[in-house]
Amino acid sequence: MNNKWLPTLNLRLLIVSFALLITLITLCNSFYSAYRVQRQVLIDHALEQNQAYAERVASSIEQYLNVAQERLAYGASILGNDFHNQKVLDDESKRLQQQDSDFDTISVVDAEGRILSSFPPEHDLVGQVLIAPDSQQGVQERKPAVSNVYKLSSDSLLVYVSQPITDNRGTYLGFISGANYLQKKNMLSALVSNHFHQDDTQVYVVDRDGQMLSHSDTSRIGNKERSAVVKAVVQGNRGAMEVVNSHDVRMLAGYARVPSSGWGVVAQQPKEKTLAALGGLMRQMLMGALPLGLIGLLILWWLANEIVRPLRQLADSAAVIDSTDSVERVQAVRSWYIEAAHIKQALLNGINLIREKMNWLSSQAYTDPLTGLLNRRAMDAALVQMVETRRPFAVISMDIDHFKQVNDTFGHDVGNITLRTLAQLMQLCCRDVDLACREGGEEFTLLLPDIATADAALVGERLRVLVEQTQIETVGHITISLGVASWPHDGELVAEVMKRADELMYQAKRAGRNRLVASVE
Ligand code: GH3
Ligand code: MG
Ligand code: MG
Repeated sequence: MNNKWLPTLNLRLLIVSFALLITLITLCNSFYSAYRVQRQVLIDHALEQNQAYAERVASSIEQYLNVAQERLAYGASILGNDFHNQKVLDDESKRLQQQDSDFDTISVVDAEGRILSSFPPEHDLVGQVLIAPDSQQGVQERKPAVSNVYKLSSDSLLVYVSQPITDNRGTYLGFISGANYLQKKNMLSALVSNHFHQDDTQVYVVDRDGQMLSHSDTSRIGNKERSAVVKAVVQGNRGAMEVVNSHDVRMLAGYARVPSSGWGVVAQQPKEKTLAALGGLMRQMLMGALPLGLIGLLILWWLANEIVRPLRQLADSAAVIDSTDSVERVQAVRSWYIEAAHIKQALLNGINLIREKMNWLSSQAYTDPLTGLLNRRAMDAALVQMVETRRPFAVISMDIDHFKQVNDTFGHDVGNITLRTLAQLMQLCCRDVDLACREGGEEFTLLLPDIATADAALVGERLRVLVEQTQIETVGHITISLGVASWPHDGELVAEVMKRADELMYQAKRAGRNRLVASVE
C-alpha cells in the first residue's frame, strides 16, 4: 500500500483541536455577551447617575426660587398695607436686599411698571421703567413670576423674581421684584454654576428658551442651544439620553426641569470616558477565566490521551495479528468505553477466525479429503522427522485386491465407500502414535514408530483378518495384500525401506493375495 495516502492527523490532535475550537467559540461568545452586558450596564448607570444629578440641581434651584418667592410675598404683604409711604417702600427694599443677600437688587414697581423704590441705591433706578419688558409679566398676570433671563452683555445675565402687591381690598398696586445677576456672586448663581464635576461630567443650566445660563466653557453662556437634550428639557421633559454635543462628541446626558422657572438642568459625560472602564473589566474577566481554562486544557489533553490509548494499542495489536501473543496483547488493552470495547471484541473474534481458518487450511494441506487419513505430504514429513530424531519405525504397505472389479461392478462412488471403510479399519487396528496414510489410489500405508517388524506384522495381520471379515455395504467382502519392512533394518534410506515394503506387498499379491509378507529379521 502506498503510504503517502495515509492520513497524518492523529485522533488525539483531532479531539484536542475540536475541543479547543469549540471552547474558543464559546469563550468568544461569552466574552462578547459579557462585553455587551457590561457596556450596557455602564451606559445605563451613567445615564441614571447623570439624571439623578440633574434632578438634584434642578430641585435645589426650585427650592431656592420658592424660598425667594416666599420672602418677596412677605415683603409684598407689608408694602400692600402702606404702598404710598416712600419710607416704607425704601425700608422694605433695603431689608429684603440686605437680609439674606439673595437678591442683587430689590425694586418696588407700580401698576404702570415705573420703579418707585430700589435697593441698593447706587443703581438709582427710581422713576425708570423696569428694563425687562416681560418683567411686566407680574403686572399683567398679577401673580408670582420668574422672568425670562436677559442678556445684558456677553457676560451678564439677569433674571427677576417678582410678587404682586395688593392692598387689603385686593386692588392691584404693583409688584416687588428681586433681580439676580447670574454671573455675580449670589445664591442663585451659586446654585446654577457651582457643581462638583465628577470625572468629566459637565453640568449646565438653560432657561426656557434654551439660552445657556451656566457652562464650564464660559464663552457659551448666553448662547442659545439647540441640541436634542436641550430641546427635550425646554419642552418640559425629564429623563436621560445619548446625544452628540457641539464638538461631535457622544455624551450620556441626564436632564431635569425646574418647574417654577421652566429652566432645564443637564448633566452629561462623554460616552467614551464612561466606557473606559470596560477594557479593565474585560481584562479582569479574562484573567479570572485563565487559570480554570488552563486546568480545563490539561484535563482535555489527559482525556484525549485516555480515549486514544486503547485505540492505538488495538491498532498496534492489529498490525502484528499473526504474532503468537496477539490474543494476550489484545486482551491486555483496557477498553473503558463502548466503541473501544466493540473494536477489541471484533479484533479478538477476527484473531480466532484467522486461527481457525489457518488450522483448517493446514489440516487440509496434510489430510486426504476422501478418507480423512494423512496424505502423502504428511507421511513424508513424518518420515523425515522420525529419521531426523533417529526414531525406528515399521512400514506396512497395503493394496486392495482386485479393486478395479469393485469399481467396475458397483461404480466409483461405491469404490470410494470401500476406500473409506478400509481407512476406518486401519485406524481401529493401530495405536494412537501410529500414522495411517493414503498414498493415493487404493494404496495405503501404516507407519508404526518404535516397533519391530514382527510386531508390525502382527498389527498388519490383525488388519488383514479384520478387512476380510468386514461386510461392506453393496460390495460385500474385500481382501488386502500387505508388505512389512522397517527402518533402519531394511535400509538407511527411507526410500529403500518404502520400496522394500512395496516389494513385499507385491510379493504377497503374487503369492495369491489376501496375505501379508514381512521382511525377515
Ligand atoms: P490388484 O489385486 O492387482 O491390486 O488388482 P486391482 O484391480 O486392485 O488393480 P490395481 O490395484 O492396479 O487397481 C487400481 C484401481 O483402483 C484402478 C482405479 O480404478 C482404482 N482407483 C484408484 N483410485 C481410486 C479412487 O480414488 N476411487 C475409486 N473408486 N477407485 C480408485
Ligand atoms: Mg493398486
Ligand atoms: Mg489393488
